[in-house]
This record gives sequence, structure tokens and C-alpha cells, in this order.
Amino acid sequence: MNETIQVLINEVEIQERLLSLSEEIKKDYAERPFIMLCALTGGVIFLADLSRHMGDRATIDFVRVSSYGDKTETSGTISLDCHPKLDIKGKEVLIIEDIIDTGHTLFFLKKYLQEKGAAVVRTCALLDKPSRREVDIAADYVGFTIPDKFVVGYGLDYAQRYRTLPYVGVLSFK
Ligand code: 5GP
Ligand code: MG
Repeated sequence: MNETIQVLINEVEIQERLLSLSEEIKKDYAERPFIMLCALTGGVIFLADLSRHMGDRATIDFVRVSSYGDKTETSGTISLDCHPKLDIKGKEVLIIEDIIDTGHTLFFLKKYLQEKGAAVVRTCALLDKPSRREVDIAADYVGFTIPDKFVVGYGLDYAQRYRTLPYVGVLSFK
């Protein structure tokens, strides 16, 4: 089977959007410090590019979220394989996610951070597929709203491949 990728959002479009997104974020946080908490592995390219527009007000940390069990089941078990290193108690945390699909991962992460005592938890996702949502949750900042297609590139993988592409493309099998 041949995998083909059709560009959905090109490199220039991504970088331009990051610029406007970072302006929105900087305006909202004013001069307050915040933690950019990246969900590995998919969010890492987005974090790297976005964080370089933030000046020195942001610190960076990582979590790794894994989901197990039957993918068709809405209540698939989610767990944290890698915890944040920074103390997030009383801090403003901005979750950096590659994509929001069913919303289960984001729901889990927000709850985890709230239980850890974060003062405010917000979310910034590069991509959003609202038509797939199973949990009533929305990101505070979204780069692009996309249709229900499986996408790769710019951090997003298929079987660990394609993360290093500088654009987002729709993967199909021929
Ligand atoms: P959710 O819990 O919102 O259903 O899932 C979010 C996670 O599913 C993302 O962080 C990502 O790892 C994966 N995911 C959802 N849609 C896509 C997609 O179109 N492409 C890729 N590569 N991963 C996706
Ligand atoms: Mg992710």
C-alpha cells in the first residue's frame, strides 16, 4: 500500500498563523509569567516555534500522555507516562497540544493540572477537529480548524513517521 500526503496547511501558512497566535497569547498574559506545558511527542515542533515568539516570560516543560485500550471506545484509558518537572502549584499553565480530536486527552490533562494546584490552565492547540468531539471541551487558542481527516507532519505522526515535515498534510493510502 502506498502512502500519499496532500498538503493541507503549508509551511508559510503555519508560520504566519504562529505569529498572530503568539500575539494573542502575549496580550492575554500581559507581563505575567506562565509555563508552556508541551504534550509529547506531537506538540514538540509547535512548542519550539511558538515559544520563540514569547520573549522571556514563558518557561517550558513536558508531559507524555498515553491512551490505551480499544480506540473505538469513548472511555479509552489515558495515563501520564512523563510528569512535569516544574512545580505547577499556583502557576499559570498553557498546555501546548498538536491536535484536539475526541477531546479525551485534553480533558484528562486539564483535570490533572487542576488537581496539581495550577492557578489557571489554558490550552493552545495547533489543530482542532471539532466534528470529532466526544467530550465537551474547547481550546483557548487554536491555530487551524480542520475537517475530519487524518493528518501528519509538523509534529504529527503515522507510526512515528512524518513528524519532521514542515507542513501539515492529509495522509491517504492508495
Ligand atoms: P484526543 O484525545 O483529542 O482524541 O486525541 C488527541 C491525540 O490523538 C493527539 O494528540 C494525537 O496524538 C492523536 N490524533 C488525533 N487526530 C490525529 C490526526 O489526524 N493525526 C495524527 N497524527 N494524530 C492524531
Ligand atoms: Mg498530542
